[in-house]
Amino acid sequence: MSARLKVRVDPILCDGHGLCAELLPERISLDDWGYPIVDGTPIEGALLAHARRAADACPVVALRVERAAAEAAATPPAR
Ligand code: SF4
Repeated sequence: MSARLKVRVDPILCDGHGLCAELLPERISLDDWGYPIVDGTPIEGALLAHARRAADACPVVALRVERAAAEAAATPPAR
């Protein structure tokens, strides 16, 4: 079974450049101040490539593609 992935924004790092919303409009919109509003729905298929491209393009590395929370919680910590 493949991992369920989603995008997440670190609000401390984010500078509100808005590039992510242009590259991944299926999951990210912008608020009135230009900061991202992220839809945490898991990402699959072709959309995953767009999500990774958006994360790579973030100038302050605030956008990440990571495992969905329920799956991350079920995974034992690395030793
Ligand atoms: S591209 Fe990065 S810095 Fe810009 S709004 Fe998105 S997460 Fe924030």
